Formats: sequence, structure tokens, C-alpha cells
Amino acid sequence: MQFQRLRLVGFKSFVDAAEVHIESGLTGIVGPNGCGKSNVLESLRWVMGANSAKAMRGQGMDDVIFAGASGRPPRSHAEVQLTIDNAQRRAPQPFTDSPVLEVSRRIDRGQGSTYRINGKEVRARDVQLLFADASTGANSPALVRQGQISELIAAKPQNRRRILEEAGGVAGLHTRRHEAELR
Ligand code: ATP
Ligand code: MG
Repeated sequence: MQFQRLRLVGFKSFVDAAEVHIESGLTGIVGPNGCGKSNVLESLRWVMGANSAKAMRGQGMDDVIFAGASGRPPRSHAEVQLTIDNAQRRAPQPFTDSPVLEVSRRIDRGQGSTYRINGKEVRARDVQLLFADASTGANSPALVRQGQISELIAAKPQNRRRILEEAGGVAGLHTRRHEAELR
């Protein structure tokens, strides 16, 4: 699965619609301090189902909605869309046969999030599972957060193992086993 395009509306500092085209290979985001680089990475984690305050650098879930700045009033919702090229049919069932996947997450102030895949409303879990086997996902080591390299070096052995398992593509198996045990 190849990420193609990320579209943000009302997400953190991105009050107006912003689009990021993602080429294959390594992508870096550069720009002056405070211009929104980390917010772009966070929007990618968020659309893939990230929910922890740590991943999102905020107190509550509504903190991802544009809060108002430089004369612009706050927005009532935020939305992020991720377009994925699935030409190689690597997406898990039931999405294997869709050549393109459009994953979106929208949050309305005080009302929580709605997730969609190709326009159809799904659970947060469905979005998380879509990425769980792909060594991508919101906690993927493929997304290198600011300060993450030094964290990896300083990590406790158990946490370092979790990161390596995710990189090796077996973390998705743990997620599925956990789901199976709950049923
Ligand atoms: P640095 O180079 O310092 O790491 P950066 O480019 O990563 O900076 P970000 O941390 O992505 O910058 O963006 C910070 C900006 O986003 C701040 O100006 C902050 O006020 C703004 N911001 C964060 N959340 C919101 C929000 N909910 N509404 C409006 N602006 C927000
Ligand atoms: Mg930053």
C-alpha cells in the first residue's frame, strides 16, 4: 500500500484545506519552527486511528480541531483524508480488490470521530486493522516523530522490542490475536 495524498481541513494549525502529495521513498518535512511540520505527521497518525494524548500532543480529542488564531475563528470540525494506492492488492480483506483506498476521519466538537473507508462508515478498529498488518499504522516506526531517535536509543528493552516487532511486521498478529481472545 502506497500513501499518495494527505488532505487536511481544520486540523490543528491547518485552518484551510491543505494537501500533501506523498512520493514513494523517504519523505521529509522541512520548514521554519512552528509552521506545522509535526502537525502534518500527527494528522497522518490520526487518520490511521491514533487516539492517545501522547501521539496527538493534546489534552482532549477536540484539541486537533483548529482552535482559532490570527483573527480566524475556531472551527467546529476537523477532517483528514488519506488516499492510498492499492494497485499491488496488498490491502487486507475486504479491501484487497479496491485499487484505491480513501480513508477519512472527521471529528465534530464534542461529538467524537467518524471513520470512513471508500465512503462507507466503519469502526476505528477497522481502520486500525487495515494498517495493522502493513507495518504502517499510527505507531509505525516508518513515521519518525521529532525526538524519536533519541527515545529509541534510551528505551527500555521491552519497549524497544515492541518497536522492532512492529518494524518486522508481526505486531499486526498480536493485534488480531487480542481481538480473537476478546470474542
Ligand atoms: P518545530 O520546528 O518547532 O518542531 P513544527 O513545524 O513541528 O515546529 P507544529 O508543532 O506542527 O510546528 O505546529 C505548531 C503550531 O500549531 C503552533 O503555532 C500551534 O499554535 C499550532 N496549533 C496546534 N494545535 C492547534 C489548534 N488546535 N488550533 C490552531 N493552531 C494549533
Ligand atoms: Mg515539530
